Amino acid sequence: MSGKLFLVPTPIGNLEDMTFRAVRILKEVDLILAEDTRTSAPLLKHFGIDKKVFSHHQHNEHKSVTEVIRFLKEGKQIALISDAGTPAISDPGFLLVREAIRNDIPLECLPGPTAFVPALVDSGLAADRFTFEGFLPVKKGRQTRMKELVNEPRTMIFYESPHRLLKTLEELAQYLGTDRQASVSRELSKMFEETVRGTLEEIKIHFETHTLKGEIVICVAGK
Ligand code: SAM
Repeated sequence: MSGKLFLVPTPIGNLEDMTFRAVRILKEVDLILAEDTRTSAPLLKHFGIDKKVFSHHQHNEHKSVTEVIRFLKEGKQIALISDAGTPAISDPGFLLVREAIRNDIPLECLPGPTAFVPALVDSGLAADRFTFEGFLPVKKGRQTRMKELVNEPRTMIFYESPHRLLKTLEELAQYLGTDRQASVSRELSKMFEETVRGTLEEIKIHFETHTLKGEIVICVAGK
């Protein structure tokens, strides 16, 4: 009998967001795959999870998948976690899920923390239809992606790092218009959480003179 693969979301900042089921599954599985074993160690320790942890990150993902599939076929129960949030959402996971499905291995993604959902809801922009864009390409393909979004009618969600925020806001304003409504959510679920709303131009001006640290999600209204 084959085992089962669990995709287990972990908090994006606030440890209280770990679900009871996430803790139980991580305690029950045979082994845990983590994006960075050192990053996940304090979380696992905090919840009293004492399991074998192996690394599964974007640089060894292709190699690791074959071995993980073999373990699953041998009947092992395996959980995948990323550094924060839901695996496979701008994090490793997709390749393993695809291979598990190809090999008829049962899998289950637990509901749980992810940054884009609270950012979208906090934005106050239309949340009935949206497109998750993840990280924009840094160089190659960046302009093409921006052009593709010019006529996008749904709310757009981007992940961004603080040192690129101003550049991205400026380019989005260039392609979508300075007066397009948007929001920037910073440090969701953490002590210095904040959401700044306004036009792309207003938000850019705000962050030219305010703290630009922490993790960031940008939401932009559709056309
Ligand atoms: N798997 C994660 C998820 O489910 O949201 C995303 C991982 S991705 C490598 C990291 C990016 O997610 C950050 O650069 C930021 O854009 C966003 N992010 C993660 N935690 C966040 C937080 N607490 N506040 C705002 N954005 C966050």
